[in-house]
Amino acid sequence: MFRVLLLAVAYLFMTFPAVIQSKEPQTVLLVSMDGMPWNLISGKFADTPNLDRVAKKGVKAKYIKTVVPGKTWPTHQSMLTGLYPENHGIVSNKFWDSVYKETFILEYDCTNFDPKFYNESEPIWLTLQRSTANKGRSGVYFWPGFGGYKEMPSFYRKPICKLNCSAVDPKELPNLRKKTRKTWPPYEHCYPDFFNETEAYPKRVDRVIGWLKSDDPPRFVALYIDAPDWKGHSDGALSQAYKDSIEEVDRDAVGYLLDQLEKESLDDKVNVIFVSDHNMVNTSSERVILLDEYIDPSTYTLTESGPVGHMWPNEGMLDEIYKNLTQPNTPEHLTVYKEQDIPEEYHWKRNRRIPPIYLDPDVGWVVTKSNATLRPGHWVKGNHGWPPQKAKSYSILFAQGPAFKVGYEIEPFSIIDLYPMMCDLLGLEPRPNNGSMAIVKKMYKEDESPTAGQRSVVTCSLGALLPLAVFFPVFLGSF
Ligand SMILES: [Zn+2]
Repeated sequence: MFRVLLLAVAYLFMTFPAVIQSKEPQTVLLVSMDGMPWNLISGKFADTPNLDRVAKKGVKAKYIKTVVPGKTWPTHQSMLTGLYPENHGIVSNKFWDSVYKETFILEYDCTNFDPKFYNESEPIWLTLQRSTANKGRSGVYFWPGFGGYKEMPSFYRKPICKLNCSAVDPKELPNLRKKTRKTWPPYEHCYPDFFNETEAYPKRVDRVIGWLKSDDPPRFVALYIDAPDWKGHSDGALSQAYKDSIEEVDRDAVGYLLDQLEKESLDDKVNVIFVSDHNMVNTSSERVILLDEYIDPSTYTLTESGPVGHMWPNEGMLDEIYKNLTQPNTPEHLTVYKEQDIPEEYHWKRNRRIPPIYLDPDVGWVVTKSNATLRPGHWVKGNHGWPPQKAKSYSILFAQGPAFKVGYEIEPFSIIDLYPMMCDLLGLEPRPNNGSMAIVKKMYKEDESPTAGQRSVVTCSLGALLPLAVFFPVFLGSF
C-alpha cells in the first residue's frame, strides 16, 4: 500500500504539458545510434561530417542529458515515453520483478517480448496508432523494447525467434538460459533483425525510406542503429575500432539517410532527430569490486552487476548485509544505498523493480559477486551504466526538418523533453510524462523568443557534473 501511495505521489508530480494543436501534424523520424558519444565526434576524436551537415542545416546541442541508469533499454524507453525509468518500469537492461517473480533480460530473452514487463507505459508510436484525433501510422526498425507490445507498429522488422516464447513456461526460462554458446550472447531465444548481418546500414535506411514513400506512409518512424556500441565495449572508448565504427555509422547511416531524403524530396517534409543513449568509459580487471570479500554470497541475489549492482537480500538479511557493506570495511570506490536513500535526482527509486540495495560504483569501476562470476573470455574494454551525471555519459542531439531552425545551437536539455515535442509535431495529446517543452520549443522555427519559459513542475536537475576527464581500460559486454 505504501508503494502504491508513493507511486501515486510520484504520478502527481509528472507534468501534463498542454499541446496547442494549431498547426498541421508533421512527420517525425527519430534515429538512435547506440553508444554514439557526444564528446568524441565532429573532429574531437572521430570525424562525423554528416552529423555536422545536420548542424548546419538544422539544430544541434553540445549534448542532451540522459536518464539513470545509463543503459540501453531504459534510455530508449524514456525516449519514446518521456518518462523516467522509475515511471516506465524498464529500470535496467536486467531486473527482477518481485511480483512476477521473474527476471527481465534485454534483447535475446523471451522476457524482452513479454508485454507484462512493458505495461507501465505506452510508446509514442502506439499512441499515434491509437489516437482518435490524429491517428497515424508508425514505423519501427528495431527499437529496444518495441517487441514488448501486443500491438505492433504499422511497419516494422520482425525479430527472429528460435523459440515460441508464448509457449514457454516462464519457470523454464532460467534453465533455458543456462544453455551455453561459444560466442556472445551465451544463449539465444530471439534475435532482433539487426543480427542479420546482411542488413547493412544503407539497407536499413532503404527500408525506412520505402515506408516513407509508400501510399499511406507512417508519420512517426523510429530507426535504431546498434553501433558504435559494440566496438566501444570490445575495444574501448579511445580505440581505433570505436573511432572507425563512429565514422562508419556517420557515413553509411547518417550520410546515406540524408542523401536519400534529399533524393526522394523528403528532406523538407520529414523532421529528422538524431540521438544516442550513452558514451563509453574504459574499465579494467584492476578496477573490480568483489562482494565476496565483504558479505556471504549465499545471503543475497545479484540481478544486475557491472557499472550498477541490484542486490536482493534473502529475507531478514537486508540490515546485516547493508551493515557489512558500509561499516567498518566499506569497499573503496563503491557507494551503497538502501532503496529509500537513493538520491532523488536519479529519479530511480519508486518502482517495485528497484532493488532493496543499490550498488553505485565509481565511474570506471564495476561490481560483481566474485571472480567466479566474471565470465572469462567476455572481458571487454569499455562499458556504461553509471549515472550519466557522474559519468558525463550523455546523448547527442542533431535535428533538421521543416519545423526546425537553421544553424541553431540549443542549450542542453533532457532527453525526456523530446517526447512532448514529438507529440506536438505529430499533433498528439501527450500521455502523462516527465518532459517539458520549455527548452525544446526553442528549436522551432516560429519560436523567436530568446528565453523560453522555465521548466514546469519536474525539473531535470541531474545534479552537479563531476569533473571526470580520465578514461579507464573493461568488462561484461552489454548494451
Ligand atoms: Zn546502448
